[in-house]
Amino acid sequence: MKIKRIRVFQKNLPIPEGKVTVGQATLSELDSTIVQIISNNGLIGWGETCPIGPTYAPSHALGARAAIMEMGPSLIGAPISPVLLHRKMNSLLNGHSYAKAALDIAAHDLIGKRTGMRVADLLGGATTERVPFYFFIGVGDGDEVVRSVKEAQAEGYVRIQTKIGGRPVEQDIEVIRKVGEALKKGVRWAVDGNRSLTMRDAILLSQQCSGLPFVFEQPCNTIEEIGAIRPKVQHPIYLDENGVDLNTVIQAIGSGLCDGFGMKITRIGGLKPMATFRDICEARSLPHTSDDSWGGDITGAACAHLGATVRPDLFEGCSWVNKISDESHYDPKNAIRVTDGHISLPTGPGLGLEIDEAMFGAPIAEF
Ligand SMILES: [Mg+2]
Repeated sequence: MKIKRIRVFQKNLPIPEGKVTVGQATLSELDSTIVQIISNNGLIGWGETCPIGPTYAPSHALGARAAIMEMGPSLIGAPISPVLLHRKMNSLLNGHSYAKAALDIAAHDLIGKRTGMRVADLLGGATTERVPFYFFIGVGDGDEVVRSVKEAQAEGYVRIQTKIGGRPVEQDIEVIRKVGEALKKGVRWAVDGNRSLTMRDAILLSQQCSGLPFVFEQPCNTIEEIGAIRPKVQHPIYLDENGVDLNTVIQAIGSGLCDGFGMKITRIGGLKPMATFRDICEARSLPHTSDDSWGGDITGAACAHLGATVRPDLFEGCSWVNKISDESHYDPKNAIRVTDGHISLPTGPGLGLEIDEAMFGAPIAEF
């Protein structure tokens, strides 16, 4: 099976909460890039990549589209096989994994449709039909955050992430202690610094919250800072933003830098590298998520399919948005929804979506 045509679409996704602040940017909607691959036997596969603004990571919406346009013409005739497709893409463009991810996801969707298999089964086999979703709670005052934690637990979420940073560390410590009192038994909890803490504040926070059962996600900006605080903190450390590729992951695991990962499918380059990442983590019994920075049903389905294949005791949940807007449902019938803190794994072949192409308007590029 080979690539016959590639079409690129753009879609703005509103934020149900109104806005979200990430890095230095406050966003009121997200700009998603959707890719359709048509194979030589007439099948259609869908992929998506949606950076959460231009400052969270070294990726942005126009960059995704520019990278796809750089590779697009030379991908016509390329084999729809994950390994060969990645080699071909790497021969055309260095880096830009988040753009390559959209094409990788579309290739998996196509292979699933051709073989009649779900993407989860292509990736090794689903261990569950109900994939846990983690709920993140933004930086806020103690009462506000505790209220959100209680609501999320009441709705059935078994994975909760609370954001910190951007204010005096004493405030974060106060909020974390209150969350600790509200946390239900059995709910897994991550405190996510999103790279924002100084080493001093990360050490202070961990020491003053010792005994509280959270993992400390990406407290500081660089791998070197995390390495430096590692012996001084009391909590398990997870890498998120620093886990940019398989090489970094191998280095971090090999040097004992972290105890787990928040991992984004598009950041690492798609489902093929993500499955390799999953296997490396399993070899060292390291927990991790299967998430993404933002997106619609295509991204959600990709997170859920990969997430379903993770060894359950190592799985920290999937996530790609917090609250899902109707505009993000590209397949109204099989829409990816969260119920009782879980996603039902789609049942159809490939990603299990029947995409309503009309939602995207005319393609912005075609090869
Ligand atoms: Mg994170």
